[in-house]
Amino acid sequence: MSFPPTPTGESSSHSGNCHCGAVRFKFTLSPPLHEYPTTECNCSICTKNGFLLVYPFNKDFTIEKGEDKLKEYQFAQRISTHQFCGECGSSCFIRLPEGHPPITVVNVRMLQDFDIEKLNIRKVDGKSRGEEYNV
Ligand SMILES: [Zn+2]
Repeated sequence: MSFPPTPTGESSSHSGNCHCGAVRFKFTLSPPLHEYPTTECNCSICTKNGFLLVYPFNKDFTIEKGEDKLKEYQFAQRISTHQFCGECGSSCFIRLPEGHPPITVVNVRMLQDFDIEKLNIRKVDGKSRGEEYNV
């Protein structure tokens, strides 16, 4: 499977926010959310945060409010930047550096309008790919 998934002729639009509402965002996704291969990964950060992830293109993703509230977290090789709300701690996005696909990784659990039962969940074994998790 290609990464990110190849867009189809159809898309869906979504709004999301962190728990306290300080951070609000919207994006368009293709294929539409309920067909989109949503990642559920067993690596340490995905497990701790309960991540369910989709990958809208940056051009289809907008932070409407609260960009200044976002705090950042990096770990291991410090390639990606995890962004969470500084007020409520909700884990919202993961940003990739230059040289990676122009996408924003979005935690589907922040969406206002998703039905977890309808997601097309694709399990990923990130645990065996990364470094061993020790704290
Ligand atoms: Zn918040």
